[in-house]
Amino acid sequence: MNKDEIYNKLVDICGKNDVSIDDADLIATGDWIAKGLEAIYKDISFKAGFLVTPKNKEEIIKILNYANDNKIPIIPRAANTSYGGQVLPVYPNTIMMDFGKNMNKILEINLDEEDCVVEPGVEFWYLQHELAKKGYFFPAEPGSAFACMIGGMVGNNASGATSFRFGTTRDYTKGLEVVLANGKVIRTGNHRKGTEKSVSGYDLTSLFVGSEGTLGIFTEITLKIQPYPKHEVSIVVSFGDVDKCFEAIERIRDLGVNLALLEYADEMTLDGMNKNFKFQLKQGKIKKKMKVPKKAGTLLIKIIGTNEKNVKQDLESLQNLLNSELFAENPPKTLLLDTPIDQEILWNARHNAGPGLARSMAPPTLPRMFIPAILDIAVPPKKVPEFLKKAKEISTSYGFLPVTFGHVMDGNVHLISAQNMTDENMPKIKGFQEKILDLVFSLGGTITAEHGIGLWKQGFLEKEFGKETIEAMRMIKRAFDPNNILNPGKMALSEEIPKIINFEELGEKR
Ligand SMILES: Cc1cc2nc3c(=O)[nH]c(=O)nc-3n(C[C@H](O)[C@H](O)[C@H](O)COP(=O)(O)OP(=O)(O)OC[C@H]3O[C@@H](n4cnc5c(N)ncnc54)[C@H](O)[C@@H]3O)c2cc1C
Repeated sequence: MNKDEIYNKLVDICGKNDVSIDDADLIATGDWIAKGLEAIYKDISFKAGFLVTPKNKEEIIKILNYANDNKIPIIPRAANTSYGGQVLPVYPNTIMMDFGKNMNKILEINLDEEDCVVEPGVEFWYLQHELAKKGYFFPAEPGSAFACMIGGMVGNNASGATSFRFGTTRDYTKGLEVVLANGKVIRTGNHRKGTEKSVSGYDLTSLFVGSEGTLGIFTEITLKIQPYPKHEVSIVVSFGDVDKCFEAIERIRDLGVNLALLEYADEMTLDGMNKNFKFQLKQGKIKKKMKVPKKAGTLLIKIIGTNEKNVKQDLESLQNLLNSELFAENPPKTLLLDTPIDQEILWNARHNAGPGLARSMAPPTLPRMFIPAILDIAVPPKKVPEFLKKAKEISTSYGFLPVTFGHVMDGNVHLISAQNMTDENMPKIKGFQEKILDLVFSLGGTITAEHGIGLWKQGFLEKEFGKETIEAMRMIKRAFDPNNILNPGKMALSEEIPKIINFEELGEKR
């Protein structure tokens, strides 16, 4: 298909102001994976053919009809913060369909039904802000909450540190309006209906959530919302010993206190937090010095509740446990934070600690990136200590020392290692990654608990599920998108995974 023809058609549909072919709009500079790959493969540029910013469903239908007839790839894009290369174009003439500019409205907030209806380009924080005015919130909060949009959260089934308590985006998606590859519009689940419960037909909502733009384009999203628990207290508990810390987690689980967060942090993460406190102090963002003890086996905990009395009682139960016989030999040190501002500073520092430290580990003069395939693995929660112990042995044997922190209640561990992607380093990186993933699979774990598959992890999907399951996924893809126009080359849904985007192949290709 001739580029000018496609451009003219898109302008016909959306108008000149909503179609761009400027390099600045087409090169995927926002994605750190793109930067890393472009640094390695000098001849690559993840460049879309066209950027379109549709204003409504009608324009999207027309674009899809045209693209489907002419087999032109389309990538739906929200805030472009994906960690797996989900929104990187890998085929020529790709139409990047962006929702941030024009489809960014909250359509309804219904307190009676405790739901809201939004367009895909609504920013997570904007929605939280509007809900907070009414005493409500949307609880599935990822680490990229500062930037991500609801369409992308649904596309990736985003979640975060609180998901053991509140669940993932899928748990809150009541229904969707979706434009399919053939331009037909469907409604799934309880979209705009207020109904709470239904088992009517296939659960297409669940299928679309986490489909990474490969099955259809969401034009409206109905989300469940919840009243915000007004009271909270945070506590840092340093055990000085990893085994004791994990024993405590099991006991805390049994206590039944109302937890919103329970995070494990290694010494490097704590170091990163202290650096972050200093940075914030220097910038004038915080008024007094803050410091967490840099000790092995540390937990960061937040207790929440709708009234102060319950939060106090829960905190007392936790403190009684920590002061009990069980920990008498080496009593844990605690740091209590009970003002909203101190808690905000603490959790900000925690969110920024790992990535900040990891980035500073490798000299920035060389092509450098996180090892994506081990970034957000999960194992059964009770096997986290075994995973951490063995992963440390593997890391030491390779001379890589990743920053490790995790949402231990649901077994999701972040192993962040930034490495220089140099010729000498590649075989080492590949071997390290394989050993870590073998460990994950041997413990019954998964390659991704949060960030999704995208480009990078597709080479490992078969190892996790086996051939037959991957083929079943491909059957679904073929049924919804027979011409493979929706985000093609991702999620291991194409028979032939483009070599360039398979991390497994990087070593050989260089
Ligand atoms: C610092 C940092 C921390 C992160 N922490 C987390 C975390 O804790 N948990 C987590 O889950 N993720 C995390 N991520 C990954 C990512 O930010 C989230 O998954 C986020 O929800 C993606 O949202 P986005 O708006 O950037 O979507 P995008 O990256 O733009 O898109 C995400 C996917 O959704 C699809 N999509 C977008 N809009 C539509 C639509 N209208 N219809 C159909 N498909 C669509 C896209 O094609 C793509 O496959 C993190 C990323 C960063 C940079």
